[in-house]
Amino acid sequence: MLEPSTPVQFVKGIGPRLAEILATKGLHTVDDLLHYLPFRYEDRLNPRGIAELRAGEMATVIAEVRTSGLFRTRRMPIFQMTAGQGRTRLKCLWFNATYLKDKFQPGQMVALYGKVQDDRGELQLVQPQFEILSEPDGDTEQKAAESLEIGRIVPIYESAGQGRLTSRWFRRIIRKALEDITPELPEGIPAAVRKRLDLAPPREALWRVHWPDEGSSMQELQSFRTPAHIRLIFEELFFIELGLELKRREQKAQTGIAFELTDGVRAAIKKILPFHPTGAQKRALKEIAADMEKPFPMRRLLQGDVGSGKTLVAFEAAIIAIENGYQVALMAPTEILAQQHYFSARRILEPSGYKIVLLTGSLEDDRKREIRRHIAQGNAQLVIGTHALIEQKVEFAKLGLVVVDEQHRFGVLQRFKLMKKKNGGSDVRRASLDQTGEDARSHVAGDGAEPDVLVMTATPIPRTLALTLYGDLDISVLDEMPPGRTPIITRRVGDERSDEVWQFVRKQVAAGHQTYIVYPVIEENEESELKAAMKMYQELSKKVFPDLRVAVLHGRMEADLKEQVMRLFQQGKIQILVSTTVIEVGVDVPNAAVMVIEHAERFGLAQLHQLRGRIGRGAAKSYCILMTGGKVSEEAERRLDALVRTNDGFQIAELDLEMRGPGEFFGTKQAGLPSFQVASLIRDRDLLELAKKEAAFVIAGPNSEISQAEIDRALRQMRTRWQKTYGLVEVG
Ligand code: ADP
Ligand code: MG
Repeated sequence: MLEPSTPVQFVKGIGPRLAEILATKGLHTVDDLLHYLPFRYEDRLNPRGIAELRAGEMATVIAEVRTSGLFRTRRMPIFQMTAGQGRTRLKCLWFNATYLKDKFQPGQMVALYGKVQDDRGELQLVQPQFEILSEPDGDTEQKAAESLEIGRIVPIYESAGQGRLTSRWFRRIIRKALEDITPELPEGIPAAVRKRLDLAPPREALWRVHWPDEGSSMQELQSFRTPAHIRLIFEELFFIELGLELKRREQKAQTGIAFELTDGVRAAIKKILPFHPTGAQKRALKEIAADMEKPFPMRRLLQGDVGSGKTLVAFEAAIIAIENGYQVALMAPTEILAQQHYFSARRILEPSGYKIVLLTGSLEDDRKREIRRHIAQGNAQLVIGTHALIEQKVEFAKLGLVVVDEQHRFGVLQRFKLMKKKNGGSDVRRASLDQTGEDARSHVAGDGAEPDVLVMTATPIPRTLALTLYGDLDISVLDEMPPGRTPIITRRVGDERSDEVWQFVRKQVAAGHQTYIVYPVIEENEESELKAAMKMYQELSKKVFPDLRVAVLHGRMEADLKEQVMRLFQQGKIQILVSTTVIEVGVDVPNAAVMVIEHAERFGLAQLHQLRGRIGRGAAKSYCILMTGGKVSEEAERRLDALVRTNDGFQIAELDLEMRGPGEFFGTKQAGLPSFQVASLIRDRDLLELAKKEAAFVIAGPNSEISQAEIDRALRQMRTRWQKTYGLVEVG
């Protein structure tokens, strides 16, 4: 009898060697194996007769191999196989498929799945997937009766080990595991929830996703929406949401600082406002202030597209803390950004007379020490620096608020990653404070209360996704741009028209608008045809714009040089800034109205959007010119189209998510993303909402619908689930 936790190698037919291959797919236990779902299904219960096929449809055909062979055309070798049912025949083609040469023998039964095409009146399947069902001399009738391959709806699995473990192999092994698994699979979802959503018991759900009933809807199967699929997907999301919900409650239960929002504080906020806040800013501040007044620590995410005015909101929150006699730390991902925050803080908070300090790595040691002393003694009221610096070495006299500017560098992923690194993978709750002032917190004087934390992000995470990935944070969204902005006009041109583009830039500069010209890499290397920023800088400054003030900015420059360049650009003393993507993060120069991005086809969608956000910050009409060089892939084409079409960060994020999946979207491919067994963040967003709602309901119990024993059982199962998903647990 197999238990869910039994290692896969003990399933009949696996053994240690194949278990190793399965491990590379993340399949370690019987439970993993049973959650390795088919990615599609074939209806071999009602396979199609060749005679009834229609061009354009996807079809499963079971037929007998008649002839096969490789022939060469001028362009490529093509493998052709003809399959027949009685007197009807169907031609199948595979391009460049020399490897199929000896694959088929006349008389074999094969299942073929692919798109039916019309080739001058004759139907054919091009590049169909196939499975050989029987050997030529086999008794097909007899075999069919006991076969897992025909006469039913058949699950198709992704193969493993470079094709060694085929779909067919998985079919048999998973079937075996299903037969041998203990009948007593634990049910962690409370009865009330199961009833409300009409969820099947776990064992039945597992059987049905692998071996659907005859009457199952093919459409529901292919879209993962049979009741069995819904049960498994919901289950996974439910336990994750349960964990997040619990974590959030624990945070709320800690002692925080109850800031007072007196008339004096309100007046102090009013005094500094240089302009009327947008409706969204007002709403966000209200939410933040309400959190800050409560005696629990605030854990809030302030999400807003580039330029939506997050910084202003953060400063307002800072005023509340400072007016209450506390210190505020503002952490930025880079020195340039820290510097920029420092300048705007000085400007905006000037009338308040607060003591503001900037702590960056490039300061002299003596100066650093002095600043730290000010912080430790409580003289410095607003401390601005890079994450690295503030997290590691700073003691605060009385820290009340930590503002973390993540921009999009420190996405959610890094949060998960950091958790693992710093805490040896053992403690989610503490770890989630890593970036949010964990070390600072341990130095809080006096009452030992936790400081409030406000995380700012420019990543336009679709809301449902934010709910899961930042599930332990409350969310405020700035979904409205400050007034007076004219939308950015985005155009695409091939780089054969660069002369025109430079002329346009020249006109804009003459009209007083500064310009960014962005390149994907720093130095040209031999393999790539990319124009490197350095080389183009030479060319642009000497040949194209010899009479204009052109400067270059890239990641490998010394920090102070970078800062100097940024400052000169900010002051308008540089007219054209040639740069790599270092400018993408948070830079704010309202007078810059033009951005030319060369080799735009090489950038990701989210990145292009972030880059573009550097312009359109002032009153002048802004232009983003996407230059492409050479061949542009279909996917790049779609990205560029999307940018030309819309400025809406959320729309772009959604599209990016669809095109690339969440791993890519957050920058680092897959790394650290909570890896779901069966759920997909893209496909299953509806179930995610549902799971969140039900998890909150369970945590809020017990009540007439749900008993304490059920809650305990759910929490126990949640812990096992988290251990697996994140490799780190201890929630509650
Ligand atoms: P974000 O950090 O969200 O990218 P910023 O806080 O840097 O955006 O604000 C972008 C620009 O808009 C800044 O120049 C800022 O001074 C300005 N700004 C912010 N709020 C307002 C407002 N309510 N009205 C007019 N301008 C604003
Ligand atoms: Mg900003």
